[in-house]
Amino acid sequence: MSSPKLFAPGPVDVSPETFAAMSHTMIGHRGSDFEELYASLQPGLKSVFGTSRPVFLSTSSAWGVMEGALRNLVRGKVLCLCCGAFSDKWFDVAKKMGYEADKIQVEWGEAIDPEAVKAKLEEGGFDTVTFIHSETSTGVLNDLAGVAAVVKSFPDTMLIIDTVSSLSTVPIEMDAIGADVVLAGVQKALALPPGLAVFAVSEAAMERAKGTPNRGYYFDFVEFAKNDEKNNTPSTPCIATLFGLQYILGEIEKEGLENRFARHAETNAMIHTWGAKHGFQLFAPEGRRSNALTCFTTPADFDLPAFIKTLKSKHNFLINGGYGKIKGLTFRISNMGNETVATMQELIDAMDDVLG
Ligand SMILES: *Cc1c(COP(=O)(O)O)cnc(C)c1O
Repeated sequence: MSSPKLFAPGPVDVSPETFAAMSHTMIGHRGSDFEELYASLQPGLKSVFGTSRPVFLSTSSAWGVMEGALRNLVRGKVLCLCCGAFSDKWFDVAKKMGYEADKIQVEWGEAIDPEAVKAKLEEGGFDTVTFIHSETSTGVLNDLAGVAAVVKSFPDTMLIIDTVSSLSTVPIEMDAIGADVVLAGVQKALALPPGLAVFAVSEAAMERAKGTPNRGYYFDFVEFAKNDEKNNTPSTPCIATLFGLQYILGEIEKEGLENRFARHAETNAMIHTWGAKHGFQLFAPEGRRSNALTCFTTPADFDLPAFIKTLKSKHNFLINGGYGKIKGLTFRISNMGNETVATMQELIDAMDDVLG
């Protein structure tokens, strides 16, 4: 039997059509073929980011740009908004990088309260804020517009937003909300193989970066901007993945973003309905739930490892048994990427079969 189909929240299943697009003849990255490829990606990326800014291509996982954004923007103190494994880790990473960092910590499963962000920023001294839109470890979708409005009311405070598991599943209006950096890895909501991160930087953040010392080279925003003017990247990018991205952006354009959002809402609701039927409680609160993945609380009398194991051995589907400190206590099912009502129904039928 081949490897199981991934319904875990990242990496997610990659379609054969995507792999076919990726097996394009290799091209050099300092020639016109590459410039055309790079330019062809911009309209689609700008549309999913909701920006008129260029979207940069980083050959790294999301963490590369998460760390890079701090390196480019933090001069004084960074505030990290923590509500799960990924957002908590960003605080640890900021400290590992030697920055003065503080955090707002809410219980895993809760959302960040914009009022709390306001109160914290009023203490003063912060020049950068890290924020995760969809906290993939808990299934919480944070209040993007609310948090952005608060951060924007503090002049010269940069807002870095991780949209790894939300980009293209719900509207993201980078320019309208005044975000400074929006970033995502492509192996989740964009259903590509891992190894590429995409990000956009506001004009204000670009100005900040220019004057920030010790930006290094690989994640230097100024280098990305300089190369973007020539439709290029600072170093050799993962060209095969970029052909895959070109294919996916074409699919997004064909489907239409609004339809894509609606598809994610519908397939996500199917998993909620399935969970309710079996008495599984949702881990994230009403109104603040991601529509790209679902996180359930594991009932005390439920043999989660056996469920996951049988789903895999009998049906060749993989779901996830919880992440970080809530491993085992929760489990997660992804509906990101190319999943449809039909493919989610196959998963649901298989899960029902395992539950008996
Ligand atoms: C998966 C994930 C990351 C980490 O991404 P890498 O590509 O492994 O670096 C960061 N943030 C969120 C919200 C994620 O879901």
